[in-house]
Amino acid sequence: MSAADQTQKERPQKPALQPYLVAVLLVALATVLSFGIKPLFGGRVPLTGFTLAVILGASYGGLGPGLLATFVSIGIVFGFVGVAISLIVHQLRRSNVALVRAKNELELANHQLSKRTEALSRSNEELQRFAYALSHDLQTPLRTAGIFTERLALHQEAHMDEGARASMRFIIEAIGRMQAMIQGLLEYSTASHDGEDQKAVTDCNTLVQLVIADLHNSIAESGAVITCDPLPMVDAIEERLRQVILNIIANALKYRADRRPEIHISAKRMGNDWAFSIQDNGIGIAMEDAEKIFGVFQRLHTAREYEGSGIGLAVCRAIIERHGGRLWVESELGQGSTFFFSLPA
Ligand code: ADP
Repeated sequence: MSAADQTQKERPQKPALQPYLVAVLLVALATVLSFGIKPLFGGRVPLTGFTLAVILGASYGGLGPGLLATFVSIGIVFGFVGVAISLIVHQLRRSNVALVRAKNELELANHQLSKRTEALSRSNEELQRFAYALSHDLQTPLRTAGIFTERLALHQEAHMDEGARASMRFIIEAIGRMQAMIQGLLEYSTASHDGEDQKAVTDCNTLVQLVIADLHNSIAESGAVITCDPLPMVDAIEERLRQVILNIIANALKYRADRRPEIHISAKRMGNDWAFSIQDNGIGIAMEDAEKIFGVFQRLHTAREYEGSGIGLAVCRAIIERHGGRLWVESELGQGSTFFFSLPA
């Protein structure tokens, strides 16, 4: 026996399965490590561990264990990807079902909402028709009552004592107020639904000049100074918009403080709208009353303090809303008020 054969015999032999077991163990180790440090790689499994396992497996056991390590690694990675894909698909299906259910519920709610809106606008129209008919029909008997009361007062005044004369005066004043209120109601009931066909491109600068001409006497009497920035053109029912500007400026003159009235009109673009503002330095309004004054027949003062029927701003709001805008006020008692209205640009 040669010396070389002798050495070969003395070297301890590896059991045949050991390299394969080592390769599998290395891959198992790589799997545990790679999945353990997955969060550090943003949820992705790093493949370096598997590559190392294949290299170590091959260098320890040769081609067979190296190939085994490769196949097991590929199996594990693909298995994991497969499981992940199925989980994602399952999750997607569940979200899809939830989405379809939410969509159906939304459609149902939408349908109910549009039915309610329809019913509401129908009853609103009916109410307006009722208010119009009522105020229209009430005008005639009230006018008759007014005429005959005045006639009675004229012919019988000589036979009346002071008390009867005062009562007669109250009756005539009350009839006058009632006529103004009925007229206001009539305007209110028509403000929000007529004139759609009269909408046209309207120059707001011209409207303000017309209003200033209309209010010439009150402006001269109060010494008011009215200033106006350049205003835009808007799509509006000219007569109605003029009514809004007139009402707000007339109020600024009526509710003036003990100083010279100063009124400033301007407009600025806000998204898809023009926001107009009419600012005064009058008596102002407490902010808790800022919504109340837009209600029908809502007033903050008695007829003795300031005459009026409390419907002007309600009509203005109905007109502006009819144009797709909003009307509101910002004010402080004693510091003046700024009325804002928006109109689509
Ligand atoms: P009216 O002037 O006939 O009372 P409006 O509807 O025009 O009716 O106004 C409602 C109320 O809002 C008024 O009674 C008044 O109290 C308040 N108001 C309106 N404009 C102003 C203003 N510029 N400054 C202070 N108060 C105001």
